[in-house]
Amino acid sequence: MASADIETGYVGSVEQSSPGIYKIVPAKHPWRIVGTVVAAAIIGITIHSILTNPKWGWAVFAEYFFSEPVLVGLSRTLWLTLLASVIGFFIGGLLAFARVSKSTLLSSLAWAYIWLLRSIPLIVLLLVLNNLGYLYPTLNIGVPFTDILFAQYSMTSVLSVFAVAVIGLSLNQAAFSAEIIRGGILAIDQGQQEAAAALGLSWRRQALNIILPQAMRAIIPSGFNEIIGLAKATSIVYVLALPELFYTVQVIYKRNLEVIPLLMVATVWYLIIMSVLSLVQVGIERYFAKGATRDGRTSALDNVLKFVTGDATGRAINAVRTNPVERTREAGPAREGGRIEIRHVAKHFDAFHALDNVSLTVEPGEVVAIIGPSGAGKSTLLRTINHLERADQGYVAIDEELIGYERRGNLLYELKDRAIRKRRAGVGMVFQNFNLFPHLTVVENIIEAPIAVQGVPRLEAVAQALELLARVGLSDKAEAYPRHLSGGQQQRVAIARALALKPKVLLFDEPTSALDPELVGEVLDVIKELATSGTTLVIVTHEIGFAREVADKVVFMEDGRILEVGGPARLFSDASHARTREFLAKVL
Ligand code: ADP
Ligand code: MG
Repeated sequence: MASADIETGYVGSVEQSSPGIYKIVPAKHPWRIVGTVVAAAIIGITIHSILTNPKWGWAVFAEYFFSEPVLVGLSRTLWLTLLASVIGFFIGGLLAFARVSKSTLLSSLAWAYIWLLRSIPLIVLLLVLNNLGYLYPTLNIGVPFTDILFAQYSMTSVLSVFAVAVIGLSLNQAAFSAEIIRGGILAIDQGQQEAAAALGLSWRRQALNIILPQAMRAIIPSGFNEIIGLAKATSIVYVLALPELFYTVQVIYKRNLEVIPLLMVATVWYLIIMSVLSLVQVGIERYFAKGATRDGRTSALDNVLKFVTGDATGRAINAVRTNPVERTREAGPAREGGRIEIRHVAKHFDAFHALDNVSLTVEPGEVVAIIGPSGAGKSTLLRTINHLERADQGYVAIDEELIGYERRGNLLYELKDRAIRKRRAGVGMVFQNFNLFPHLTVVENIIEAPIAVQGVPRLEAVAQALELLARVGLSDKAEAYPRHLSGGQQQRVAIARALALKPKVLLFDEPTSALDPELVGEVLDVIKELATSGTTLVIVTHEIGFAREVADKVVFMEDGRILEVGGPARLFSDASHARTREFLAKVL
């Protein structure tokens, strides 16, 4: 302080007069003032000229603005925009999911559609569709390649000009929206899909409840760009002589020659449409920002939806809190079974062997810690246990049930997705990066899988979720969004989420590696408590002290192989393998 006094002179004197209280003098921005004046002048001149120049013809404008043909044209424009957006985005959504699907045929078909429709100018597409009656005079409904015919229509009677316009605009829109939606899907962290798969959610449920709502944040801005573009592009259907807004004003000004006033009629209506769309966009964006922003404000649309459809989860939470329900399901993991048998499992990525003939047996209720250097294959092994990763050789069985396969004789038949998901529900997984669903509240995260996969009634699922939250010490966070929790709290929610499916086996992949040192303890305490509950736990961890305390068995892995298995007391003090001793010397 003394040096500041000498250098600046006045700091000390202010402190003396009113200690700690300083008056803030805002910075001056003279150029900003100049800019404002110039802008105001430009606006003033423009408005003045528009209002005083008689050639704008505002009287004619007023005469036609609400005239019947204009309103009819306007309503056609609005219908075209609405139908083409809804149909276009629906088909676009299907195309986008087809593009990212694992089926090569589906994704190539979608790619080809997008390529074709993006290449054909819209105006050409519309004219070709309009001449479909020339190519195919009749529309036949029957069995292809036979003479069986149920109905026959004339193409021109089925395809009105309006229908041609809607179909053309929709098909065109679908190709562009597909890519926008695909961009949104690609922006979602892979961990989200993995967490959803590990919970056993169906493909459809993953897409609609987990991926799309998050992707919407990226989709909405460019999506609305498209819709606004579409609203304007509807004017192109004038080539079909369909009297929408633009064609209507053209018809009128060709008759009365008041070109500018009538163009202004169309322009102002377009301005109004676009302004409304922009407002709608703001509302929808806010809605999909749920849980994504630091502030916990709820959006207007969210409130409206809750008012219309009711907030089932919120009501269930209140009901459970005020009036504990009778439940048939106990909270927490299943207490029976959980024997894991890993036999000769091998997994390679191209030429690289991530797992090399790994065998291990974990008894029911046992706690196994897997340690080893980075890249040893620990995560890969854990992921093969619940079939998130498909082994190239060997198998994993839990209580004699093969995860992912059915054995008949000497052959392993891979199961269908649905069957795999069912078996997976018996295996809970907790990830290093938590992978909570950010757009769902804590309780919604926990009840998602019990409701969707196991068909638990909502009230019961919520009651169980609240019980689990109490168990991990987070009763007061039931309705918070994950982003509003600390890392340690998020990981405890992730553990509660895994427990909600009552798994026989729980897998932890470095559950504390993403946490600040001071938060590690709270998560380890929860796991320690689980270790005494009789659930089988397999934990990949670098917390040697923790492993020593809770593990029944410690596994040391390196280069895709298990080098050593033993009780913690022996392995940590007297490892038989030189590599184990070397590794322990580094981490202990
Ligand atoms: P750990 O969890 O022990 O650090 P991992 O099981 O994650 O190791 O990975 C084992 C090895 O397999 C690493 O060398 C890693 O680079 C490689 N690997 C893992 N997943 C993939 C993948 N999807 N594609 C290619 N290589 C992979
Ligand atoms: Mg790992």
